[in-house]
Amino acid sequence: MKFDVIIGLEVHAQLQTNTKIFCGCATDFTPDSPNVRTCPVCLGLPGALPVLNQRAFELAVIAALGLRCQIAPFTKWDRKQYFYPDLPKGYQISQYDLPFSFSGLVEIPADPAVAGEENALRQVRIIRAHLEDDAGKNVHDESGRGSDSQVDLNRAGTPLVEIVTEPDLRSAREARLLLEEIRLLLLYLGVSDCNMQEGNLRCDANINLHIHHDSGLTTKTPIVEIKNLNSFRFLEQACEYEIDRQLKTYGTMTEIHDRTKRTYGFDPARGITFEQRSKEEAADYRYFPDPDLVPVTVTREQVAHWETLVPERPQDRRRRYHSAMGLTPYDASVIIEQGRPFADFFENIVAHGADPKQAANWLTQDIQRILNERKCGINEFPVPAELVGLILAKVSEKSLTLKAAREALDLLVERSEEQSVSAATLDQIIQERGLAIVQDDSLLKEIIQKVIEKNPKPVADYLGGKPAAAGSLLGQVMREARGADPQVVKGLVTAALDALKFADS
Ligand SMILES: [Zn+2]
Repeated sequence: MKFDVIIGLEVHAQLQTNTKIFCGCATDFTPDSPNVRTCPVCLGLPGALPVLNQRAFELAVIAALGLRCQIAPFTKWDRKQYFYPDLPKGYQISQYDLPFSFSGLVEIPADPAVAGEENALRQVRIIRAHLEDDAGKNVHDESGRGSDSQVDLNRAGTPLVEIVTEPDLRSAREARLLLEEIRLLLLYLGVSDCNMQEGNLRCDANINLHIHHDSGLTTKTPIVEIKNLNSFRFLEQACEYEIDRQLKTYGTMTEIHDRTKRTYGFDPARGITFEQRSKEEAADYRYFPDPDLVPVTVTREQVAHWETLVPERPQDRRRRYHSAMGLTPYDASVIIEQGRPFADFFENIVAHGADPKQAANWLTQDIQRILNERKCGINEFPVPAELVGLILAKVSEKSLTLKAAREALDLLVERSEEQSVSAATLDQIIQERGLAIVQDDSLLKEIIQKVIEKNPKPVADYLGGKPAAAGSLLGQVMREARGADPQVVKGLVTAALDALKFADS
């Protein structure tokens, strides 16, 4: 059966403000103390008046600019009315017809299974990003003993940016890739911590199929909105299950009469989607402009200023690491997915003379190993990026072997326990340990001569026809001339011994 999968996402991200969007209550995560972060405004008490948190608005604009959206010069607030125990106001403050931003674009790798080729890109259009306040949380007793359900309003009134995409995604995998890309972008922008366990990033997926029948007829299945997916895996699983379910339900129908949009949930334990209700239409919410809040006007100068606060997007960095620095797309992605401080560290190493490929290897292997051992992030790495760059620059100049460079790094990490480390510490370590590649053959020849004089037995063995005896001499020379290139030493030792052989005969 031929069919196209049509998916669009609505992504909700909590903005990283200290206080809620319309009151001064703190937004920190306090699951063990319910209802302590509340006031008359977020409790919805009569007469309490909301005031917009300017920081929430700015963070939302930065998010929208990161998504390449246009910023509206005029935007207002609307009440979206519905009843639920975790919504004491009886309405959510959201944005209906005049969102603060619209018409953006995000690019992700296209699913090869759908695109029919590797490395194709999928352009996902963003319809709009708007601001709204979050609801509280209903806490149900799950002990089975039938205790009461309770409501925690600590979350009520925290600022959310909702990002709505066009239905441009063509598979469950692409849905996951888009959510991953949006998360990465919001993290790079510094507007949300995107902590999915705490529910700070979650999404709804709108999904239906266009089924192409042999007769040439195409039927469109009714749209299902799967609510509240709070992990990448759940999003992908829920979409896969739903594609399958719609195929089984509608696959052979050439006419579908009931086209009502429906709201589904996802049960991760059973891996299935299930119907919750038929979807409300916008009219059911009786949207109307919130009379308690003034509209917001934004000038071009303000937008220009906010533009300057948008750093290079992950997708642009990825492209630059590949095209300008020569990393494979895979290596570029590995670095970028570790987060902005990690990527910044990488760029700093390269800026201080390291070869980009070598820097990428070091960062994802040697430095990552040290970070794992010390259970810390790149921000706490004790050796500054400049110094790591300096070590790798010495490798590129062939004044350190890669092995000696690793030893120098380990020693720098060790010394950093007692003192702050600098280029002088590095030089000291290289000198003390004799790590520098010995460039001067005459010095090496001197060492070899001494070793030969001190070891008549292996020398005699070698001359007597046991080439393996050279090994112990080689080892001793390497210990004396630590930074020396083993291949060079081997050549010189053999030459010195062979010279003795000829002198003998
Ligand atoms: Zn409050």
